[in-house]
Amino acid sequence: MLNYQELPSPAYVCHIERLENNLKLLAHIKKESGAKVILALKGFAMWSTFDLVSQYLDGATASGLHEARLADEKMRGEVHTYAPAFKEEEIEEIARISEYVVFNTPSQLKRFAKKMKNVNPNISVSLRVNPEFSASPVDLYNPCGLYSRLGTTRINFDESLLDQLDGLNFHALCEQNVDALEDVLFAFEEKFGVFIDKMKYINFGGGHHITRKDYDVEGLIKVIKAFKKRHNNIEVYLEPGEAVGWETGELVSTVLEVMHNGMALAILDTSAEAHMPDTLAMPYRAEVRGSSKAGEKEYTYRLGGNTCLAGDIMGDYSFDKPLDIGDKVIFEDQIHYTFVKNTTFNGVKLPSLVLVHKDGEVEVIKEFGYEDYKMRLS
Ligand SMILES: *Cc1c(COP(=O)(O)O)cnc(C)c1O
Repeated sequence: MLNYQELPSPAYVCHIERLENNLKLLAHIKKESGAKVILALKGFAMWSTFDLVSQYLDGATASGLHEARLADEKMRGEVHTYAPAFKEEEIEEIARISEYVVFNTPSQLKRFAKKMKNVNPNISVSLRVNPEFSASPVDLYNPCGLYSRLGTTRINFDESLLDQLDGLNFHALCEQNVDALEDVLFAFEEKFGVFIDKMKYINFGGGHHITRKDYDVEGLIKVIKAFKKRHNNIEVYLEPGEAVGWETGELVSTVLEVMHNGMALAILDTSAEAHMPDTLAMPYRAEVRGSSKAGEKEYTYRLGGNTCLAGDIMGDYSFDKPLDIGDKVIFEDQIHYTFVKNTTFNGVKLPSLVLVHKDGEVEVIKEFGYEDYKMRLS
């Protein structure tokens, strides 16, 4: 059993066995459907695990230069690089380290595709299109919402560029199942179907909640196979981020203080705002191990972070026993979209990164301190 008291606090703790189980499921989909699967670094970029990830997936998808560099340095396989807009001064380097480039608009393609081909004649060129359909539950995560800047709508598509295109990308889902993919695919084929057979590949983006227990894995395989069959066995890509890191570990924190102001309050050595930002942005309620909703168990607390932001609150949780200073509070499923976007806001120490290996060995792979806070300021 993992002894949480012996770990640094706070810490993101990633369990390799669970990560590998997710990767095995993705590899099963690759094998059965014939699709390629690449990791979206945006959602999960713990590069210490990339050797393992590379054993199962075909590469990585990057947004911009820095993610592309990380993919190039740490992953084997293909590097696909997209950006809502590329910067002139980064074009050469991106072209050198990417096998695939994905432009957001025809104008971007016109400006940069030739330059990239001059640097890397083999680079494969794709355009991100906007199918203008999404059942994404939250506007913040809806790339097909009103006035979206992400992807080219049918009306903005420039057919004169077809000769330069090897593929089309769309990304329209967020934590969704196969039924949502089918709806998006329908809209995509309705709008862009006439171009598909001129392409070498179609990238279905991310947001497929493949590793969630109720996800219809066999349904996904069927949808991909049927799509390939309709389109002359065209290559299909999936680029999940969240599904790779889904339920692979926790954020472990420590109770620093317990107080009372109309209700019981506990102050933790972590922060919703700085360390688990999606809980405030989406928002959603993170599960806390051993807890229930407010009032269901005997002792209810409002859990808050150690910043001076009034709203730095994880929520109200109830426990069987009163919380004490030094107790561990463990937030479940805090590996995807957490350390890739955490901040040193208010100088709060960043959580350490910890791996639990398959044999149970615990490895602290990174600790942070004052320098990480100072380094970003001047
Ligand atoms: C965010 C993103 C992904 C990954 O999405 P998940 O929801 O983490 O699977 C894939 N492709 C693009 C273009 C993205 O922006």
